[in-house]
Amino acid sequence: MIAERVVLVVLLCASVFGFWWRFRRVASVIRHSRKDPNFRAGSLAARLRVFVWEVLLQGKVIRQRPLAGLTHAFVFWGFCAFALITINHIATGFGAPLLTREQGFGRVYFGFVAIFAVAVAISISYLAARRFIAHPIWLGGVSVESGVVALLIFLLMVTYLAGMYWPDTTAAGHAFWWAHTLCLLAFLPLIPHTKHLHLVLSPATVFLKRERFSDIPKLEGDEDFGLLAGKDLTWIDSLQAYSCVECGRCTEHCPAFNTGKVLNPKEIILGIRGYLNDSGPRSEEPLLAKYVSEEAAFQCTTCGGCEFQCPVGIQHLPLIVGLRRGAVNTGAWEDSYGTKFFNTLERNGNSLGMAGSERQKFIERAELPIFDGSQEYCLWLGCMGAYDPAARETITALAKILRHLGISFGVLRNEKCNGDPARRLGNDLLFTTLAEENIENIRTAAPKKILSICPHCVRTMSTDWREAGHTVEIEHHSELLARFRERLPRSDEPGARQEKIVFHDPCYLGRYRGVYDEPRSVVEKYGELVEAPRHRERSFCCGAGGGQMFLGEEKGKRINIARAEELVSTEPDTVATGCPFCASMFRDALKTVSERPPQLLDIAQIAAKGLDGQTEL
Ligand code: SF4
Ligand code: SF4
Repeated sequence: MIAERVVLVVLLCASVFGFWWRFRRVASVIRHSRKDPNFRAGSLAARLRVFVWEVLLQGKVIRQRPLAGLTHAFVFWGFCAFALITINHIATGFGAPLLTREQGFGRVYFGFVAIFAVAVAISISYLAARRFIAHPIWLGGVSVESGVVALLIFLLMVTYLAGMYWPDTTAAGHAFWWAHTLCLLAFLPLIPHTKHLHLVLSPATVFLKRERFSDIPKLEGDEDFGLLAGKDLTWIDSLQAYSCVECGRCTEHCPAFNTGKVLNPKEIILGIRGYLNDSGPRSEEPLLAKYVSEEAAFQCTTCGGCEFQCPVGIQHLPLIVGLRRGAVNTGAWEDSYGTKFFNTLERNGNSLGMAGSERQKFIERAELPIFDGSQEYCLWLGCMGAYDPAARETITALAKILRHLGISFGVLRNEKCNGDPARRLGNDLLFTTLAEENIENIRTAAPKKILSICPHCVRTMSTDWREAGHTVEIEHHSELLARFRERLPRSDEPGARQEKIVFHDPCYLGRYRGVYDEPRSVVEKYGELVEAPRHRERSFCCGAGGGQMFLGEEKGKRINIARAEELVSTEPDTVATGCPFCASMFRDALKTVSERPPQLLDIAQIAAKGLDGQTEL
């Protein structure tokens, strides 16, 4: 007995040392990383809500992937239930059990945990089969360590259940006690050496993640150019890099990866982790090239699919945009399309490279009133609304609706691009210049409410302009149309065949703003709403965001073609959009993928159809 206890002490110390030896290195990297200039504790209640939903209830993973999510949740809940059993198990080895089967509570708790043991054993077998037999492409190469950990978890459950049947006073029970102990002691040091470090870190990562989706951190002074080297990584970046569980959900949803490009968001996170392991958080060694590919960083559409899906709260976009900033702000990014685009934006003040007089001509032709402070809304045209022929039709339709509803509005005499593509491509100087010029203009006009047909304008002006010193109250037209839905007239005769309309969720309206129901409520009034295979939070990008619309030819399959194929697969009469960039990407793509392409309309155009001679319903 004494000899056994000595062996147990030695093995226990070795196991704890194995854990601590690696874990303290990770903790030191996180502790010595740069302060995060943007981090705000914010609302504790909101953080707790997210923690309860995403960590304790595993709600996010279950909702996004029901079967895999539920099995993972059982493993997690099983771990929680086993915490007390594990302490008790080791205490029993020293002859001081906390729980026994003779106690009422002990009996109930052992039985309760046995249910979890069965659930965990089944769940881990399913997850292992999925990983090693089904092996979806986004999981990457086969990982031996995952196999070992899955086997250890399975054995822990089996040995626990066996111990229920054979008490440790019997020889068989004693053998199972030791088998369970050895599995435990082998498992502990594996945690910080493998992706299972997320068991320890991810609750903190989820609780501490940046409050806003795709939050691009503020640059700190003239010496801060973005993410160039380890010294620029903040403690949140490091914590997140070490929390990655390598599940590949980000990759599964990435439009760039799915269309054959170099970009793989999981590899970006693992590249940063590899960098921190090799060079540490204070290093001046460049991040791009050896650890993260520059080509990959500039293929991102900033759709946010990765960040939205990540089950452990990793925020990819501050890193991807940070890397772009580092390359662009230091002049290291050499791309002829990018350079040409920045010059165009700087010279013309709009992303389409049009003369400002063209905007004025459109305003006069469409008889749009000028905002003079007396109207309820300032209608922000944006580059697309001011210059793109199709987006102009959306503006005209929206103006017609506003007049019908008796809502007064006006447009600004002068507008420049709000800076969205410059911001996402990492050109801070150009972004700030454009934002400041617009802010001054808007301060002078002093509108109370701004309305826009473009989700990119809405996001940039409501959130990103904060870095330039001002934000505005701005809403997307789908939100206004949904509010006044009952007062919009229908275009069809009662009983007529309803058109099939598929709505494409724009990334910057859906994942960025959480607006999914409003455009649908408008569409449903005018036709039969059908859903694309990927919709709402899982919507697949059109390929335009993150400045991609203005860069060169895409590698691999074009993203807009891939999305157009999905939309057309629903056999719609109409493809409805709520973003002029999406519409622009689909215009030719729909013709490419279909001999009889559906019509392509913004929701404002759909709603305006009923305005000619129809009565209000
Ligand atoms: S934001 Fe979209 S395109 Fe960029 S890495 Fe994430 S999923 Fe891929
Ligand atoms: S970054 Fe998140 S979603 Fe991507 S592999 Fe890691 S844990 Fe999974």
